[in-house]
This record gives sequence, C-alpha cells and structure tokens, in this order.
Amino acid sequence: MSKMVPAYSAPAANAPLSPTSIERRDPGPHDLDIEILYCGICHSDLHKVRNDWGNTHFPLVPGHEIVGRVTSTGDQVTGFHSGDLVGVGCLVDSCRTCPECRAGHEMFCRDGATFSFDTFEKGRKQWTAGGFSASIVVDERYVLRIPQRLDPARAAPLLCGGITTYSPLRQFGCKRGDEVAVVGLGGLGHLAVKLAASLGAEVTVLSTSRTKENDARRLGAKRFVATREPGALDAEVGRYDLIVDTVSGPHDLDKQAGLLRSFGTMVLVGLPPSGAPVDVSGLVNGNKRVAGSNIGGIAETQEMLDHCGKNGIVADIELIRADQINAANQRLEQGDVHYRFVIDAASFRA
Ligand code: NAP
Ligand code: ZN
Ligand code: ZN
Repeated sequence: MSKMVPAYSAPAANAPLSPTSIERRDPGPHDLDIEILYCGICHSDLHKVRNDWGNTHFPLVPGHEIVGRVTSTGDQVTGFHSGDLVGVGCLVDSCRTCPECRAGHEMFCRDGATFSFDTFEKGRKQWTAGGFSASIVVDERYVLRIPQRLDPARAAPLLCGGITTYSPLRQFGCKRGDEVAVVGLGGLGHLAVKLAASLGAEVTVLSTSRTKENDARRLGAKRFVATREPGALDAEVGRYDLIVDTVSGPHDLDKQAGLLRSFGTMVLVGLPPSGAPVDVSGLVNGNKRVAGSNIGGIAETQEMLDHCGKNGIVADIELIRADQINAANQRLEQGDVHYRFVIDAASFRA
C-alpha cells in the first residue's frame, strides 16, 4: 500500500511549479519513512525545471537537499530509529556491488545510480520524485545523519551544495596556506568559501557582483575580485593553487585557467548549459589541470556533515514557503540569492 503525499511539481519546461500530490511507496524492510522538514533549492533543480540540459522528464518534482525526521523504519533497518534527524541528498539507490559503489562513488555506479529526482527507479516503474514534498521513503544505506549541533534548516544545503564543494577541496588536497579561488558566490560558492577557510586556505572570491564583497569577507574570504570590472583579473594571473568554479552560466574558462599557478588545478562543479573552450597550450605550459567533480559518495557526504558539525558550518539561507518557490526560482536565475533558498516543508502540508 503506497500513500499519496503533497508536493510541488513542474508540469513542463518554463511552466511554474504548482501543488500536486505524489505516490510514495510503503517502506520496505530496509527503508526509512522520512517526514521532510526542509529542502534547499539548488541551481540544478532550476536547470532541470527549465530543461537546460535537455533531459528532464515532466512532470518533475525537484529537490535533493533534504533534512527530515524518521517517522517509521522497516523491520530490517539497523542504523536508524524513529525520531532521528536525517538527511537525503542526490543519491537514493545504486547497485552496491560494482567497483564504483564499493569504492564509495555511488554516483558513478556502473548500473546507473538512482538520483533522488528524475531517475527511473530500479525494479519499479516510476521516475523518482524529490524533496519538494511532504515525505520521502529511502533505503537506510543512502540516508545521512545530521549532527545535533547544526540547525536543521541551515544544514539542508549541505546535502548537495556542501558535498559538491567539500569533495573537490579534499580531492585536490586543499590545505593550510593554499591560495584558493571560489568563482561565483551563490549556494555552492558560499559553502565552498566556508569549507575552504575551515581547511586553512587563503580564500579569494571571484564574483560578478561587487555587492557581495562584504558577505564574501564575512563568510571567510580574505580577498574579493569583481570579475567584470576592467582589468580586474590582471593582477590575479598565476596566483591560485586551486580554483573551484561554481558558476551556473556561460563564462570565460580559458581566462580563468590563466589564474592558476604552475601545477595548479581548476575544478569545475558548475554545470552551465553549454560548454566553453580551454586553450591546451595554456595548460601544458605550467602543468595545469582542469578537472570536474560531481557531488560525492555516501561515506564522503557523512564525512562532510561530521566536518561541518565539528566546525559549526551551515548555509546562510532564506527560508521560504512552498508557494514562494516560483519567485525564488526567478531570483536564483538572476543571481539574487543570499545564499540558499530553503523551503519549510511544513508548508507542503498546510
Ligand atoms: P547559484 O546559487 O545560482 O550560484 C551560481 C553563481 O554563479 C551566481 O550566484 C553568480 O555568482 C554566478 N554566476 C551565475 N551566472 C554567471 C555567469 N554567466 N557568469 C559568471 N558568473 C555567474 O547556483 P548553485 O546552486 O550554487 O549551483 C551552481 C552550479 O553548480 C549550477 O550550474 C548547478 O547545476 C551546479 N551544480 C553542480 C553539482 C555537481 O555535482 N557538480 C552539484 C550541484 C550544483 P556571482 O554573483 O558571485 O557572480
Ligand atoms: Zn544540487
Ligand atoms: Zn554500482
């Protein structure tokens, strides 16, 4: 017996999201039934709603930065109890046996990972529906623990924005004293600043918006560069050990790669709709690397949450109601975000 729960869905590309109701399966032996408390709005939700990547299946219920409370557990669940404060990010299932799953890189499961929304579920017959909803049922293997110390609403964005920026900082060895540039001060960018600063890096924010300078410094950046001001990047050439690019729109990657010092890495986590060229000789001359990074596995997501618990790192958020989702999406599109919209999921039930 499945149940119907209230949600918000996008009926078609560029159409506003509206209230609907969706089916949630009955919890199986390994499942947790989770009452959603908060869900962040990531720019990937918006890319999907706008069909920017050309692969969205409508109607779409987005949302993959979920914090909630366990309301019931399957009879073989071992790690969680009713009442636990938990998180669900992008991943809700994978094969568990392939080399990628065994290495903790479930997002690259060779059998295809199941993402929390817009993926055809394994062994079932429907597309997954995400956290813009009142509750969700997830296998305990893909559920995270939220450290007690963290405010649950402000912790929600860690489930995607946090892991997506923590993982490349760790992969590329961010350490005390490194010169790290964070490009784009939005949801991911502001968490990248906090996380890189917590690892001891000297952080510079490269932003198109001069108005974000004070915020950048408050979040932990030592320096700020307004990239659209004439000549602004000239003094930055050859400076950075690591550039974390979180930009959601088209921009000049080649110019940005020139800001790396020799042996530096520019890691791209932003997913603009169209690609951008990078000059090969500029990379060869200086042993520079351009890399990509896609979220992070379940174990690494828990490691990130525990790191945030120890260091008191949460997102800066604007808490909204479900009926404000469309207005929030418009502001997100314009870069007017300080620095993550989070939906109070009680408003789905109201
Ligand atoms: P966001 O909150 O909208 O922030 C993006 C920021 O990029 C904006 O605030 C703006 O910052 C800057 N920006 C936007 N358009 C720009 C342009 N054309 N040129 C230069 N700068 C621009 O978005 P988000 O939620 O952080 O997500 C950022 C990107 O990461 C999205 O493409 C999203 O799909 C992707 N993403 C990837 C992963 C992954 O696993 N790799 C995970 C989550 C999200 P300033 O005002 O400071 O310039
Ligand atoms: Zn995301
Ligand atoms: Zn697998």
